[in-house]
Amino acid sequence: METLTVSTSSRVEMKDITSKVKDAIRSSDVDDGVCTLYVPHTTAGITINESADPDVALDIKEKLAELVPEGGYRHREGNADSHIKSSLIGNSSRVLIEDGSLQLGTWQGVFFAEFDGPRTRKVWVKAS
Ligand code: ZN
Repeated sequence: METLTVSTSSRVEMKDITSKVKDAIRSSDVDDGVCTLYVPHTTAGITINESADPDVALDIKEKLAELVPEGGYRHREGNADSHIKSSLIGNSSRVLIEDGSLQLGTWQGVFFAEFDGPRTRKVWVKAS
């Protein structure tokens, strides 16, 4: 397993980590298999979506803010919206590996979804 370090710079951010994931797969010994990505945090997530147009990630971020506003929850830490968004987006993704490279669609990228930043985060990557 490899640990990627992801530094975010705002409270909510969709950060494209595709090149980091590709590097991790290239340095693994797996030619054909599966890449599992896992985010070990309760206020962040991971998702695969369009990376060609940066507006797509911004639209996702803005729609989540509209669906899950910041205040009005029980959780005393004050970041309940971050936990809810994390569960909506999910904390793991899987991508196939073929001939040593990550098999993403033409327009796809891997995004780390920060919901309670800025922080330094981890993504666990396992090629198997
Ligand atoms: Zn909390």
